[in-house]
Amino acid sequence: MHKVIIIGSGPAGLTAAIYAARANLEPLVLEGGFLPSGELMQPGGQLMITNDVENYPGFPEGVTGPELVEKMRAQSERFGSKHQYAVAEEVDFSGFPLKVKVEGQWLQSATVIVATGANARWLGLPSEEAYMNRGVSACATCDGAFFDGKELVVVGGGDSAMEEATFLTRFATKVTLVHRRDCFRASKIMADRALHHDKIEVEWNREVAEILGDDKGVTGVRLSSTVGEPDKTLDVGGVFVAIGHTPNTQVLKGHIDLYDTGYIIVDRHTHTSVRGVFAAGDVADSHYRQAITAAGMGCMAAIDAEKLLDDYEQEGLL
Ligand code: NAP
Repeated sequence: MHKVIIIGSGPAGLTAAIYAARANLEPLVLEGGFLPSGELMQPGGQLMITNDVENYPGFPEGVTGPELVEKMRAQSERFGSKHQYAVAEEVDFSGFPLKVKVEGQWLQSATVIVATGANARWLGLPSEEAYMNRGVSACATCDGAFFDGKELVVVGGGDSAMEEATFLTRFATKVTLVHRRDCFRASKIMADRALHHDKIEVEWNREVAEILGDDKGVTGVRLSSTVGEPDKTLDVGGVFVAIGHTPNTQVLKGHIDLYDTGYIIVDRHTHTSVRGVFAAGDVADSHYRQAITAAGMGCMAAIDAEKLLDDYEQEGLL
């Protein structure tokens, strides 16, 4: 039986692994991979599709997301964490020990730390699906270079949209931010950076009603108005959707308490509704969603798990 299984390998999971490994708990980290549904649980999490991380303390010159993940992984491995490139296919939290199904086998563990993060949300338009990966993307750092010399649309008004739009100016001749309200949700510094950029324009009070295209890919968007103006069309070669994220909790439904939005309910510290199951990072935090806050929660979850393992020993369970 494992003492700690950590599901997820973003900053929350890997920081939990560093702390649990240093406490000699030999954590097993399920790094990610393809879910039975075919959906990818990205090993390393969203940092793997983040180019410049400028706000993670300790890196005055900035660091790339993948490099930061690699450093965290190496740091936990140095203290004895074990890593498996697999996903949690099913869980059984009905009793002690907790059970997690991995590659068809049930693993047993005294504690589980869920750090499965969140994935990009889509608009839900049929035309969005039709042109997916043919001009429609949710990751500028992954796909931006394919749009060299084109005009682009970025949908959203949060920090992600600002970041995507600013990054895409490296390739695009012009980027139009399409936002459904008349002010951004993004932090002032990131909004200002986008608003003052000479390649970025904003279509306020607009939504993408349809993505237009031909057999080669996206050729434009039809924008509807949220304030009663007539529709308008923009000729663009690509559409980047940056409208937020959905937590990766599908496998946990019915096994621990979740909010209606799918985020894990943590009652105090990192405890979930099931004894022995802890949650850390974006999967339990719809508010801050930063690499550093995820890492902080990962640390907390490992300390909470360690404390519970002590209690289990007192109770004679271990
Ligand atoms: P977010 O803050 O939730 O913003 C989502 C944006 O998309 C909002 O402007 C929202 O509009 C819009 N939106 C949502 N659903 C939509 C729909 N169906 N159609 C059109 N627009 C829609 O998400 P986020 O930008 O991904 O940021 C999430 C968190 O990560 C935030 O805490 C942010 O600070 C953080 N973050 C930080 C950085 C950084 O510091 N480097 C970078 C990226 C993200 P409304 O405003 O009208 O609701």
